[in-house]
Amino acid sequence: MAEPVATSQAILVVGGGISGMTAALEAAECGHDVVLVEREPALGGRTAQLYRYFPKLCHPTCGLEINLRRLRANRKVRVLTMAEVDDVSGERGDFAVTVKLRPRYVNQRCTACGACASAVTSTIANPFNYGLDRIKAAYLPHAMAYPQRYVLDPSLIGTPEAERARAACSYGAIDLDMREETIELAVGAIVWATGWKPYDASKIQPYGYGLFANVVTSVEFERLADPHGPTGGKLLRPSDGKEAKNIAFIQCAGSHDENHLRHCSRICCMASLKQTQYVREAYGDDGARSTIYYIDIRAIDRFEDFYRRVQQDPSVRFVKSKVARIAQDDASGSLTLHGVDTEGYHRYATEHDLVVLAIGMQPESTSIRLSDDVITDSSGFMEGTDDGGQFSAGAASGPLDVNRSVQSATAAALRSIRIVRRNASPSHAAGAVDAAGSARVSA
Ligand SMILES: Cc1cc2nc3c(=O)[nH]c(=O)nc-3n(C[C@H](O)[C@H](O)[C@H](O)COP(=O)(O)OP(=O)(O)OC[C@H]3O[C@@H](n4cnc5c(N)ncnc54)[C@H](O)[C@@H]3O)c2cc1C
Ligand code: SF4
Ligand code: SF4
Repeated sequence: MAEPVATSQAILVVGGGISGMTAALEAAECGHDVVLVEREPALGGRTAQLYRYFPKLCHPTCGLEINLRRLRANRKVRVLTMAEVDDVSGERGDFAVTVKLRPRYVNQRCTACGACASAVTSTIANPFNYGLDRIKAAYLPHAMAYPQRYVLDPSLIGTPEAERARAACSYGAIDLDMREETIELAVGAIVWATGWKPYDASKIQPYGYGLFANVVTSVEFERLADPHGPTGGKLLRPSDGKEAKNIAFIQCAGSHDENHLRHCSRICCMASLKQTQYVREAYGDDGARSTIYYIDIRAIDRFEDFYRRVQQDPSVRFVKSKVARIAQDDASGSLTLHGVDTEGYHRYATEHDLVVLAIGMQPESTSIRLSDDVITDSSGFMEGTDDGGQFSAGAASGPLDVNRSVQSATAAALRSIRIVRRNASPSHAAGAVDAAGSARVSA
């Protein structure tokens, strides 16, 4: 086991999405040592996988880039990627945390030149694009990845291809002997910013996800619309590669449902409203046709104006109905939605090129081993601990949009600072930041 890498004045942030990055930076910029632990090979979380943000429809890259710049300029944050918390013991002000690090097989010398990818032929399903395309098994997670460092998929290890990749690297950056590592951290407070995952759409049987190629989820649709995505930003049907112009959005897919997620996922109405604008952007007023099948539209506070704008868009139709089932025409791949329109109570059977399921947001924490005193709600979203030593931030605490996630992460950082300051010796007081340095990426 490696030596301890933090003191109990340090703050541990688990999850390197927008919330975790925000919490880590806020604490570090106040002079505190922070360890940021991210499960994936790069920071950014699910925000990095969005094409645009509602309501302004700007690109998420600018928000992420600002945070990455802050991170690069701050020596107080130690970033551990491909890392997961295995165990937490102790109490407020004095936690012992075990973290497992998976091997990347690529060390800090990597310049992201890409020669290793050219040397291999094996491919894997691209996790960044939710498996909609395939990439080489030696890969950079995505263009904005931090750290900008390649990864070798474990399926290569022990094969002649791995040796070819190593031989192709002129920087000595490939280390095929890397093994899983365990490290121990001593920290004073913990911020859980582990975010959310899309509900498993194949469990919603009447909608045929996994059976019908042209039923996709809202997160996959983000990738289809993105020029850096699997179709170069063209809204192409997975079944035959034809342009999808007549698109159905089914709301509450897995949410608001006793058989699936009981909670309202809060974001998916806004996400579908936003995605109708991707269709409009692709085909203009004449070609685009979006239909939103909904029970209630949740667009509160500052989002009402955006909702009103979309309502006035002639390319968008709203049908108040819970879709009962979807049938596929095997010859054309087109999909017919069956249900009852509750405004007028007439049955419909409407054909669409592509169906987008506005999939529910489920907390990632359901797959994490939390200490017994972490309080969660009935859906598994985290509240923190009663003793105030562990906090949740962002979508780990509820289905929040980016703006609210950032607010909640800032609040969690401030609460953690209060805890560790009670422990702090003068040398750990605010102001001890070496601003000339840069964030340390350890794995
Ligand atoms: C279809 C769709 C579209 C959306 N569009 C918008 C939009 O336009 N505008 C907007 O404001 N919001 C939008 N959202 C919401 C947005 O995605 C969330 O607000 C945002 O992802 C929350 O960020 P986060 O950092 O809290 O969580 P996440 O983005 O989920 O990040 C969590 C991070 O924690 C890591 N992690 C998870 N488990 C562990 C673990 N055990 N150990 C270590 N690391 C772990 C993950 O790998 C990830 O990097 C959309 C949501 C959906 C479903
Ligand atoms: S591991 Fe080596 S060959 Fe591969 S991208 Fe990095 S520097 Fe280039
Ligand atoms: S935000 Fe909209 S689509 Fe999502 S669960 Fe709530 S009501 Fe349903």
